[in-house]
Amino acid sequence: MTQLTTAQQGDFIRDIIDNDLKTGKHAGRVATRFPPEPNGYIHIGHAKSVCLNFGIAAQYKGTCNLRMDDTDPAGESMEYVESIINDVHWLGFDWKDRLFYASDYFERLFQFAVELIKQGNAYVCSLNSEEVRERRGSFTEPGRESPYRNRSVDENLDMFQRMRAGEFEDGAHTLRAKIDMASPNIVMRDPVLYRIKREPHYRTGAQWVIYPMYDFAHCLSDALEGITHSICTLEFENNRPLYDWIVERLITGSRPQQIEFARLSVSYTVLSKRRLIELVENGHVRGWDDPRMPTVAGMRRRGFTPEAIRRFCSEIGVAKNDNLVDASLLEHCVREDLNEKAPRAMGVLQPLRVVIDNYPEGGTEEFEFANHPQNPGMGSRKVPFSRVLYIERDDFLEDPPKKYHRLGPGREVRLRNAYVIKYESMVKDPKTGMVVELHCTYDPETRSGPPADGRKIPGVIHWVSAEHCIPAEVRLYDRLFSIQDPGKEEDFLKFMNPDSLKIMENCCLESSLKDAAPGSGYQFERMGYFCADKDSSAGKLVFNRVLPLRDTWAKIKNK
Ligand code: ATP
Ligand code: MG
Repeated sequence: MTQLTTAQQGDFIRDIIDNDLKTGKHAGRVATRFPPEPNGYIHIGHAKSVCLNFGIAAQYKGTCNLRMDDTDPAGESMEYVESIINDVHWLGFDWKDRLFYASDYFERLFQFAVELIKQGNAYVCSLNSEEVRERRGSFTEPGRESPYRNRSVDENLDMFQRMRAGEFEDGAHTLRAKIDMASPNIVMRDPVLYRIKREPHYRTGAQWVIYPMYDFAHCLSDALEGITHSICTLEFENNRPLYDWIVERLITGSRPQQIEFARLSVSYTVLSKRRLIELVENGHVRGWDDPRMPTVAGMRRRGFTPEAIRRFCSEIGVAKNDNLVDASLLEHCVREDLNEKAPRAMGVLQPLRVVIDNYPEGGTEEFEFANHPQNPGMGSRKVPFSRVLYIERDDFLEDPPKKYHRLGPGREVRLRNAYVIKYESMVKDPKTGMVVELHCTYDPETRSGPPADGRKIPGVIHWVSAEHCIPAEVRLYDRLFSIQDPGKEEDFLKFMNPDSLKIMENCCLESSLKDAAPGSGYQFERMGYFCADKDSSAGKLVFNRVLPLRDTWAKIKNK
């Protein structure tokens, strides 16, 4: 587990760039890109890559492109493109006019492939995928050459044109690089560069029936955009020689350089797109923006802030070895940010009715509350008080232990920023035996200070006025999985946390919250951080609990 460290200043990628700048490698330029495939929503792992690529561009006064890496029609869509654009903007980054689509390069990529054929560096292979696999060999055994490997350039050119023209069935032929079937690196054993796939593409429609493979499209897209440092995750390390092999043969002048860093994993969640899609499509969550999802859209709806996510990404730093980062570290960053920024308010999640018997019937008054205890600049608001209030059900016990500093028979408690009240009696539901109402009296002398007789009132509880408060549904979230590394499990669904969503239907919030904008965070005193949800309507407010107040990370840190 990675624990909280101080924010990293430099890292091995920045070291490489510093060195390149010293030696004048890319003529002093720094150009990066974030290249998502639009086949899903982006998640916290992508956010790390976004922060890294855009962060480096900003630091070195370079550029960072947003590129849709959309060369495989399966599963790609405009909905995903739009979500990515929205999410990267929301994270706080701007690519100005540098939004690109790899699918815009299809014609140029085709011409590059033709060039490779002419050089004698690529051939059309007519083995099927099974036969190709059989001949690939293993770590211990070299591969075997394809019988089609020595086709003439003219035949290859003709076959490749006919592949493009749609003369062949899916899988009948592929274009392969002619490298070395005996290479110790399996990636270099004549990798496939193009395959036939009769599937419409969300942008190019039916125009193409051959599509370039990632290894061919990615490096050349980088080169076409003048990328200097192509930062990707570690699983591409073995592909780097192929990346270089292709650009060396097709690109003159400044060539992009691939640099790999460790993929981020976060505990108690999954980050593989395939699995996230499964969660969404099979209804295990309420969509890509379900507040329990590790997606940027989910975190936004949950009430996480872009500042907190960026802070998290900078805290975890960039390294070469894969690591599982504790979800509490992300939560810690969210709490720190909201603690500073979120206005305070009062909300009662499980209301218990309290009647103040000696308070005038129909009477009302207002108490002035600071919106933030440390920041007077955030102003104040007036909160109405009246004879009937709601308090948290947990703030009353019929038979409380000695150290319980809240309400119980014979006890007094301070209502936050208002009066001290004293328990008088309770009303129970005759059928269930549940306490449904308390009767109390208030001490008018305690409006703006402690009791005159010097008696101590140790407890303070929050409250709302029954007549003024607004009803709300509040959704409480917990981790989506009950084990640390569900991504490791094939049947990961078995480990979903059955209590990851709890809906509180009858909450009562102070009236100032009625116009809360979806996504804006509040601290409900004593209860945690909350934000309004887009499901709110005029008739019914819906709030999400961002996180409870308790900082479990602090405990870990101090161990
Ligand atoms: P899959 O889950 O199918 O492997 P992917 O997450 O790699 O897909 P891409 O759209 O290809 O999806 O990713 C875009 C960029 O984000 C890539 O440069 C990739 O290296 C980076 N990225 C993806 N996941 C992570 C992660 N967990 N940590 C850091 N970077 C990531
Ligand atoms: Mg990928």
